[in-house]
Amino acid sequence: MTLLTPSYETVRRPLHTETTTSQALYLPIAPPTLGTAGAIVGRELYSGKAFVYCPFSAFGDGLPGGNMIVLGDTGRGKSALTKTYAARQIRLGRKVVVLDTKEQKEREEGEWAALGRSLTGSAPVRFAPGGGAGSSCINPMDPAIAGKRQVELVRTIVELGLGRPLDEFAGSALRLAIHRAHERAALDGRTPVLADVAAALRSPDLADAEVKKRTWEELLGDGLEASYVLDRLCGTGTGDLVGMLDGPTSLSIDLDADMVVFDLTKVPSGGVAMTILVAVISVFLEEVWLRAACECGAEPGRHERRIVDANSGAWELGSCAATGCARYTQRKRILVCEEAWHILGTPQLAALLEKFLKFARGYGLSCIFIVHHLSDIDDSPETQAALKMADTVVVYSMKKAEAEDTVKRLGLPAWTAEHIMRLRRGVALWKVGEVIYPGVQHLLTEAEQHLCFSSGSMTDLATTA
Ligand SMILES: [Zn+2]
Repeated sequence: MTLLTPSYETVRRPLHTETTTSQALYLPIAPPTLGTAGAIVGRELYSGKAFVYCPFSAFGDGLPGGNMIVLGDTGRGKSALTKTYAARQIRLGRKVVVLDTKEQKEREEGEWAALGRSLTGSAPVRFAPGGGAGSSCINPMDPAIAGKRQVELVRTIVELGLGRPLDEFAGSALRLAIHRAHERAALDGRTPVLADVAAALRSPDLADAEVKKRTWEELLGDGLEASYVLDRLCGTGTGDLVGMLDGPTSLSIDLDADMVVFDLTKVPSGGVAMTILVAVISVFLEEVWLRAACECGAEPGRHERRIVDANSGAWELGSCAATGCARYTQRKRILVCEEAWHILGTPQLAALLEKFLKFARGYGLSCIFIVHHLSDIDDSPETQAALKMADTVVVYSMKKAEAEDTVKRLGLPAWTAEHIMRLRRGVALWKVGEVIYPGVQHLLTEAEQHLCFSSGSMTDLATTA
């Protein structure tokens, strides 16, 4: 056990060759490296080798998905790792979106604002209850969100507001009202908002009632409660969603930027507004940010279709004349969720996310969830399913009870619990697929140190090389 506990700095020189002797020596503890393609994370303490990680190129080596969860106590190095990792991946051409939900009472802006600004020169996209100068709004009824997804999304909003699922009758009334809201707003030449759905629920269409074999009064009754929920959420002055989700989309952002930070740090944590906002943003990202695009920036349709097998007619996307690109390569993207317990700990969001994660690989997407402990997170089946989608787990030091809970819930070997408790700052246990790297030291260059400061704070700075 002491062998596995890096309570002291290893004096072993870095290995440059793999001799059979060294393999034999490290066999029980040094797994194969993850290859040479990707972002350098730091050093694997037991072998002395550089630790390189790339969820996109590791697919070929049997990593089924590219999602990662980063755990550990505050100040142990989670933040420094994820920030430098994101910055290093951007240098490799990836696009990064951050959902920053870490509540900052004393600061003007979120944890990731400074990094986003230094990488792109743009301010974060801020959401604040009641709106106000410099804050943004996303409209769940925006035509950018496709029909079926929009119905699911508005239903999720109502259910989160209501605190329980809608029954079949209410669900059907809501679906009809969403269609009517679009139709009626189009007559006025505008985009519908949530208040239009509430209005449509209160004035159902007689034709809709007939199709559904309901009387007009019955259809009205089916949807009345949902209309009250929407009224309350979007009510002038008092609604939880006012200024954030009740108006037309007002994003003055470039979703093609290298890094986009959604700053939700002014939204009360644990509240219904936060949950709904995260649901809407994730669907918006899926419909807009994640649309298929090549690394050259052009859509698949602008790449030439090349038949690769004349008999079967199989084809692939080849060159794009406009950009001079030789072959279509799916753009790689990374979504970082800071304080992800807001998401993973809410069964409705975890379920929404699970769907998202299932298709992550097809989107060329890797998600990173940052949480302190799993004990912050509810043990619902939805959450368990979402956790299973994380093929890479990074665990920084944590206290005994949390370490034991983490090991149990993630199915790590029993010895890792004590090991996790003893990890030094900046050193983490990595589990990539089924392989465990007991001690990976994150290395930070001098030039990167400023990236890891939260605005005005140096407390999150982890180890230096
Ligand atoms: Zn291209």
